[in-house]
Amino acid sequence: MNKKIALLGSTGSIGTNTLRVTESLGSHYEIYALTAHSKYELLAEQARKFNPAVVALTDPQLADKFKNALGDYTGEVLIGPDSLCTIAKMPEVNTVVTAIVGAAGLPAVLTAAEHGKTLAIANKEPLVIAGELLTEAAAKSGAKILPIDSEHSAIFQCLQAGKTSEVQKIILTASGGPFRTASPEQIKNATLEDALDHPTWSMGPKITVDSATMMNKALEVIEAVWLFGVPVDKIEVLVHPESIVHSLVEFVDGSVMAQLGAPDMCTPIQYALTYPDRETGIASHLDLAKLGQLSFEPPNLDNFRALKVGFDVAAAGGSAPVVFNAANEAAVKIFLEGGIKFARITELIEECVDKHQVRQHISLEELLEVDKWAREFVSNAASKSPTL
Ligand code: NDP
Ligand code: MG
Repeated sequence: MNKKIALLGSTGSIGTNTLRVTESLGSHYEIYALTAHSKYELLAEQARKFNPAVVALTDPQLADKFKNALGDYTGEVLIGPDSLCTIAKMPEVNTVVTAIVGAAGLPAVLTAAEHGKTLAIANKEPLVIAGELLTEAAAKSGAKILPIDSEHSAIFQCLQAGKTSEVQKIILTASGGPFRTASPEQIKNATLEDALDHPTWSMGPKITVDSATMMNKALEVIEAVWLFGVPVDKIEVLVHPESIVHSLVEFVDGSVMAQLGAPDMCTPIQYALTYPDRETGIASHLDLAKLGQLSFEPPNLDNFRALKVGFDVAAAGGSAPVVFNAANEAAVKIFLEGGIKFARITELIEECVDKHQVRQHISLEELLEVDKWAREFVSNAASKSPTL
């Protein structure tokens, strides 16, 4: 069957790589819809090149500039945040690639899950905050959820060798980020430039900062709980600076499966698109002899408190991950704007999580309320004491 793809967030790091992958895969992978938020010129260029049936820009303030930039593009043009849900349920679309950053992607991911689409998910935040709602919606509609996040793609591939009930442990690898070997003092005085200088992966700014605090790994622990239906006490994090072993699964008989590859997001994006098959597409090659050795170490939970808090939040469940994620999104935004010091991000998350009374089995309305409260809490706390 031809894959008719809606690519939500086509102008970002995952979005542009997804377009490279689809180009390499050939004509049975059709780009049906593309969306972006602010990069209207790049979206217009993509529209002219890929000629999708629909394009959408979610920032309405840029609508006129976008329409002018579209030139001779003749497809349908949608404007505003609601266009994401409109696209996610279009009957012509069978595959929705979610490459939006943050909780902003939640309505569209939920809509796609409710409408039985195949979801190739890079946008981890909706899974973290609404894992229960999303997995229930997918179970009801028959929607398939396929991971793009490299660690989860690795686990998903390892799980082809055994059943979830036979899993002893899921081992998520982490590069350790730019501050893996830094002292607490160096971390405290880290600049924006230091935080954005990731040693192995090239990604958008929010996830790059998340990698520096190791918040990204904390979000991935919760993401794994929902994607694979395993309790958090079966999930471990292992620091692996070379980012070659993308994650491992230990089975009850002691066998450990791992997936290896060059640190290139095109590989997991492509597997999510071609699954259950494999195609040549963009094939990056791994030269282990040249690498010589791979190294592993335990994570430093004193220097990277976000990871420690993440395990507690995952165990608490309910509304805890909503607060954890929203506090992080708000704090990272303020950090990227120069409003707080790097070490303050984790402090603000911890303060916010501590203040919250966890509720279980929350509805979408409650979730949005809790999300809003956490963002406001962080914004107030940050303006009162930006450098604490
Ligand atoms: P980028 O910042 O590079 O791209 C984000 C995309 O989302 C852009 O297309 C952007 O549009 C769009 N966007 C931003 N805000 C909104 C909004 N409010 N409404 C609708 N669209 C919006 O992020 P990445 O590609 O790095 O990451 C995307 C997701 O994938 C994240 O959840 C991240 O955690 C996850 N991920 C990323 C990896 C990577 O290698 N980059 C690896 C694993 C997971 P515009 O640019 O036009 O403003
Ligand atoms: Mg990852």
